[in-house]
Amino acid sequence: MELLLRSPLDMHIHFRQDAMLDVVAPLSAAHFAGGVIMPNLIPPVDSLDRLLWYTNEVRRAVGTHRFDPYMTLFFRDYTREELVAAKPHIIGIKLYPAGATTNSDGGVKEVLSMKHVFAMMEELDIPLLVHGETHGFVLDREREFCEVYRTLATAFPRLRITMEHITTEAAVSLLDEFENLRATVTPHHLLITLDDVAGGMLNPHLFCKPIAKRPEDRDALLAAALRPHPRLMMGSDSAPHPIDKKESAGCAAGIFTAPIILPLLAELFEKHDALVNLQAFVSDHARLLYNVEPPTTTVRLVKESMIIPEQYESVVPMWAGRTISWRVAEVS
Ligand SMILES: [Zn+2]
Repeated sequence: MELLLRSPLDMHIHFRQDAMLDVVAPLSAAHFAGGVIMPNLIPPVDSLDRLLWYTNEVRRAVGTHRFDPYMTLFFRDYTREELVAAKPHIIGIKLYPAGATTNSDGGVKEVLSMKHVFAMMEELDIPLLVHGETHGFVLDREREFCEVYRTLATAFPRLRITMEHITTEAAVSLLDEFENLRATVTPHHLLITLDDVAGGMLNPHLFCKPIAKRPEDRDALLAAALRPHPRLMMGSDSAPHPIDKKESAGCAAGIFTAPIILPLLAELFEKHDALVNLQAFVSDHARLLYNVEPPTTTVRLVKESMIIPEQYESVVPMWAGRTISWRVAEVS
């Protein structure tokens, strides 16, 4: 049994910088024809100079793979001139509430105080990508943030807003309420719940932000992905940390999935008799929603077992050592 996917896209990736960038960028570029590159470096990618520098770094690390990096700026109080200058080089601007996840200390303290920037982004047609969590109780952060999404979607009806890595039934419902809301969802949030992270022995390699939630949340996300919901895109949020930052007190948040995303999804969609919808979920919806035209590639997956490697250099992937039933046979 085999499956062909045309120009798969990963609409939410962390490539990091320096040595880690060189490890992970080729792994994504080996399977994907493009992806949205997140700007939460230290310091963040929040100026045109830094954006152009990082774009070059990413292109260098990707090497000869056919892969379009869709770059983002880290949200701050930009001037109109800065937005106009950046627009040709970015797919959108990523907003992090301060302290919400890895390297987001410089994020926004009060989202709704930035309405003047959202208004300019709406006028210039620059999409807003959002890490949607409040500073409330960890399981309630996304559900509470839905009020902010609702306010933004209502106040700026032409602003294209992506709810990044949604994890709750509440966010899935919201997607149906507003035409200008779209969302990414990760493979891991379609597969795991909080029980897999902390229900038994603590599993640091499944610890991420937003944290995996309840079974009914996962089921709602999965139903939307399998359907497939036309405003839902695959964004892996693949987020590498070296093993000593995961297997330690003070475990860093992030799950590394880049090299196994397509086999994981083929297994999951086949299990639910929805393989025919995987193309839309991993490419077609993103192309339409962001109006991008990635390089033409074809990924051939075959139903043959694969053991997930224990490590990629210093990084432990999700489900290391586990056998899954699909693998990537060829990319052309
Ligand atoms: Zn992320």
